[in-house]
Amino acid sequence: MAEYTQDEKAAALRAGENWLETDPELLLMGRFMDDHGDPSTWSQAMEDLYMAEHNVLMGNGAVPSGCQHCGIPEREHARRWTDGIGWHPWVQPRSSQTLARMKARRAARATNSLKDGAR
Ligand SMILES: [Zn+2]
Repeated sequence: MAEYTQDEKAAALRAGENWLETDPELLLMGRFMDDHGDPSTWSQAMEDLYMAEHNVLMGNGAVPSGCQHCGIPEREHARRWTDGIGWHPWVQPRSSQTLARMKARRAARATNSLKDGAR
């Protein structure tokens, strides 16, 4: 269930904050925590799935075979800078990462076609 108590939600709503209901990052994290528990207990595969969905959400979903660190395809990669990693060559993604990216893209396509249908 959700991480916020009724009092906290009520206080946020009184303050005019509707981030509880509308922040897509919070909603995504909330959904994963509902389904899989605290992030510190997630497996690597679960982290990969969360990151893949998060990246799609932020509009920079990676191709499934993209670099392990930054998601850029091998043929476009050369050397890239990524926060926390620094300069790096293309690195083979983990198989769990490839799978997670495929799932996230498929889910995003399904969501987008629903949205298109509604408007
Ligand atoms: Zn990279």
